[in-house]
Amino acid sequence: MANPIKSEYFIFKGSVLERMVASGTKSVTYEQLNRFAHKILPEQTKKVYELMTKKIIVRDASGEVINNPFAYRRVAIKNNASNWGSCSSQRNMNLNMHLVRLPEALMNYVIAHELCHLVYFDHSKQFHAIMNAVTDGREKALERALKKATPDI
Ligand SMILES: [Zn+2]
Repeated sequence: MANPIKSEYFIFKGSVLERMVASGTKSVTYEQLNRFAHKILPEQTKKVYELMTKKIIVRDASGEVINNPFAYRRVAIKNNASNWGSCSSQRNMNLNMHLVRLPEALMNYVIAHELCHLVYFDHSKQFHAIMNAVTDGREKALERALKKATPDI
């Protein structure tokens, strides 16, 4: 995937961005997209985190409940073409600014995926078990939808 071109105009049908843009505006600039992402993605991460924390109980190998398993430190917004998100062992998250060009369900799916990596830093069976609990068994379907919807970034 190529790097986004700075002077390009972005729009994505049905996306969070489209709903945020004032009616009548057909497209946004790179700077506007970046601003939206800085506003929306930390807010949305907090929402997804709160939902997951309410919904999911995570236990360690000995069956003990892990306290606040999805706790993260901060969200950084990146402009890159290689991934939608990543997280570090310091529990910091990086999210791609282009996530705001996706429908909300897919944006939330990517955020949930990164939050699950704070529990399991791999794509193990246990990781997918949490993702399926979070998405009501729709992890594979959401992954397929994400691949299909991925805008050219
Ligand atoms: Zn992953």
